[in-house]
Amino acid sequence: MKALTFLARRFVAGETAEKAVEAGIALKKRGINATFDLLGEDVLDREAAMRSAEANKVLLRLIPDGVERNVSIKLTTMGLAISDDFCLEQTAGVLDAAKAVGGFVRIDMEGSAYTQKTIDAFQTLRQRYDNVGIVLQAYLHRTEDDVKAAIARGDRVRLCKGAYKEPPEIAWTKMDDIRASYRKCVRLLLDKGNYPAVATHDESLVEDVIGYTRDQGIGSERYEFQMLYGLRPGRWDSLVAAGHRVRIYVPYGTHWFPYFYRRLREKKENLFFVFKGIFGR
Ligand SMILES: Cc1cc2nc3c(=O)[nH]c(=O)nc-3n(C[C@H](O)[C@H](O)[C@H](O)COP(=O)(O)OP(=O)(O)OC[C@H]3O[C@@H](n4cnc5c(N)ncnc54)[C@H](O)[C@@H]3O)c2cc1C
Repeated sequence: MKALTFLARRFVAGETAEKAVEAGIALKKRGINATFDLLGEDVLDREAAMRSAEANKVLLRLIPDGVERNVSIKLTTMGLAISDDFCLEQTAGVLDAAKAVGGFVRIDMEGSAYTQKTIDAFQTLRQRYDNVGIVLQAYLHRTEDDVKAAIARGDRVRLCKGAYKEPPEIAWTKMDDIRASYRKCVRLLLDKGNYPAVATHDESLVEDVIGYTRDQGIGSERYEFQMLYGLRPGRWDSLVAAGHRVRIYVPYGTHWFPYFYRRLREKKENLFFVFKGIFGR
């Protein structure tokens, strides 16, 4: 357990809001913004969802001036699996707290059982709030249409590949197809989207976006790159040095294991790090 905690530390800023804020301050000193994510999934009782909403509000108020007040939340942690109305109420509370401190809330996208529910909840909240954005996953067949709809409404979108295991009936499963979908969707967002977030560590996609924005004369103030805490930190700095905006997703909290496990499953490099951590000391 101690070794796992040690290994998780690369991907998780700490177990407390204070630790997350410390990481955000350190990033800011490097010219990098953060979005803070209180870890936790599939909350099945109302008290836990309310605790999660409250913890997000506490964090938003804890972030000092000079560091952007930006959090990412999963609607299942706000009670989406319990009741739509209850979830909306909890999420609206977080959005109000963010609004009071000039902050922004990104709604993460979860597995396909929640795609439509998440988009519906987001749309409901969007009617009342400007400080909220959504995530779309390039591996889903539906995403090109969702991207076009988001552009038409001026919604702020973070585009990622998608982290959950989805069946071939609804998702591309080969990396080349996922990349092709990503390229298509990201170009639509860069052309006409509302400050899209390009969330990937995939160098071929990062390079594609750099080349495309240069060729199309799209200024670096119109989009931002996003990467996960612990992954490719050298690349964060080189992007900033080249004039790009970068935001890092900073997970924190005691429920770190599922998140950590997904990062390990995703990448050989991450596994290599784990093996080095276990065997190389
Ligand atoms: C900010 C952010 C938010 C996210 N939010 C969500 C969400 O709400 N919902 C969701 O489902 N998923 C989310 N994800 C996860 C995402 O969907 C992917 O699962 C994850 O980012 C892995 O895909 P990738 O494109 O980053 O690169 P991968 O597919 O992991 O890697 C592809 C290629 O990237 C390059 N690469 C990767 N790492 C390195 C490295 N360390 N050094 C050099 N090259 C490297 C290599 O060329 C590699 O072959 C998010 C990701 C980010 C960055």
